Amino acid sequence: MADHATNPTRPCERCGTMIPPERIEILPDTRLCVACSQAVGGEFQISFVAENLAKSGTMKKNYGAISMKKTRKPVRRAQG
Ligand SMILES: [Zn+2]
Repeated sequence: MADHATNPTRPCERCGTMIPPERIEILPDTRLCVACSQAVGGEFQISFVAENLAKSGTMKKNYGAISMKKTRKPVRRAQG
């Protein structure tokens, strides 16, 4: 069912290299090629925000209120 007409590849926002379709398939949100992603130390900053629902004084921890925050690092296009 591969539709080669709609190949999802696109150029890297940093260096302009075409991002391999396999990478986009794995990381649909990616805007960087592998090299640039490594160069910037990862495209996304993922932080887990745990909401503290447990009442103070109780030992019970309340799980299930952890939200994942995925923020895209600002990417500057390489000069030149
Ligand atoms: Zn790149």
